[in-house]
Amino acid sequence: MTMELKLYDTLSREKRVFRPLDPANVRMYVCGPTVYDFAHIGNARPVIVFDLLYRLLRHLYGADHVTYVRNITDVDDKINARAAEQGISIRELTESTYANFKADVAALGCLPPTVEPRATDHIEEMKTLIGRLVASGHAYVAEDHVLFSVPSMPDYGRLSKRPLDEMIAGARVDVAPYKRDPMDFVLWKPSKAGEPGWPSPCGIATPGRPGWHIECSAMSWKHLGETFDIHGGGIDLVFPHHENEIAQSRCAFHTPVMANFWMHNGFLQVEGEKMSKSLGNFVTIREVLNDWPGDVVRLAMLATQYRQPINWTVKGLQEAEKALSGFFDVTAGEADAKPAPGVLDALRDDLNTPKALAEMHALKNNAGRKALAGSLGFFGFREAEFKAWQYQHAPALAVEPADIESRIAARNAARAAKNWAESDRIRDELAAMGIKLTDSKDGTTWEVAR
Ligand code: AMP
Ligand code: ZN
Repeated sequence: MTMELKLYDTLSREKRVFRPLDPANVRMYVCGPTVYDFAHIGNARPVIVFDLLYRLLRHLYGADHVTYVRNITDVDDKINARAAEQGISIRELTESTYANFKADVAALGCLPPTVEPRATDHIEEMKTLIGRLVASGHAYVAEDHVLFSVPSMPDYGRLSKRPLDEMIAGARVDVAPYKRDPMDFVLWKPSKAGEPGWPSPCGIATPGRPGWHIECSAMSWKHLGETFDIHGGGIDLVFPHHENEIAQSRCAFHTPVMANFWMHNGFLQVEGEKMSKSLGNFVTIREVLNDWPGDVVRLAMLATQYRQPINWTVKGLQEAEKALSGFFDVTAGEADAKPAPGVLDALRDDLNTPKALAEMHALKNNAGRKALAGSLGFFGFREAEFKAWQYQHAPALAVEPADIESRIAARNAARAAKNWAESDRIRDELAAMGIKLTDSKDGTTWEVAR
């Protein structure tokens, strides 16, 4: 059993041993949702993956020694447009959308992060960073915008390692006339009449609002410091979002790194296709939770290692339900146990969840029961909720429970008389009605077969 935690770091392109800057306060920042509508099932992936990492870090360093920050982007063009459409303030829109998001991720069994900062509560920190960047020659004011000067940072682009022309295409940069270089990106922009705005920094007279990237530099700084341990998000955020966060933070603080580990989850596709409203395969977390319990969604998500792409299918959900059902069948009543060492070892290897789940399947014998129960608890699976869902969704019984009990009694009598043909006949008859019997030294129990 190894004691080390190894994580794949996108910046160095290798799996490295994780050593926190301060083991008494392990610090992780994950880019959170832009809250203008219900989150989709792809958005659930980073939430579940980094929840598992949070649980692992708490296990390894102590629950009070991990700070997990997941921000809320509550100002952005889509939010402004949606709020204007509905005739409400952006705060009203984002409050209700965020309440929905919180309910969704709680149903998925995710722990609340230590801090969930809102961008609009950190405008002052953003302006401080912007002021510093301008003062040190890394940013400039042009036509009421403040822009980050990409050529001012010699090693810009290390995270995404893309050739410059590809980056320009990827960023879909509009080559605005006020930009000194096409790669330069917005730190602050003017707000039009009717749009939300705040007093601008750097002597700009018109009110304005922050660019998206500066929000995360400001919030991670405020809650985790200039340099921290882990920065996470989906793979789509590598460029430009994370590349630009690194540029802002490192240039504002004159630090060699922003975070020591950059972790990115792979993308989720639905039934083999990119999820999109036009293809009609766009699913919200809420819609999935209407049909499935949170734990099944959670297991279906973790059945694939987090860096791999995941194909979200009904079949995958059905398999997850079966697996959970099998786990809980053997662990009933085994609360408060510790996770199995083999399961933890797999997770310590860059969150190898497929291996961890295989280890858990191997524990489904009598001797492994306690360790399996402990592992299920560690993963955040909730037996009572899952069983309640199964009970509600069980197919209608073709036979009354009292009738089942009397048939079981008749079968027991047949068995006592060593009349195996009769006892088998009764068992097969019940099976035909969808009732599965399990014999143990404590007697016979029945359940609806699945
Ligand atoms: P957004 O609200 O679009 O900024 O996304 C919030 C988080 O969900 C980010 O970490 C994204 O990288 C992630 N994300 C968005 N779409 C997907 C997807 N289809 N699969 C996996 N992660 C996604
Ligand atoms: Zn971010």
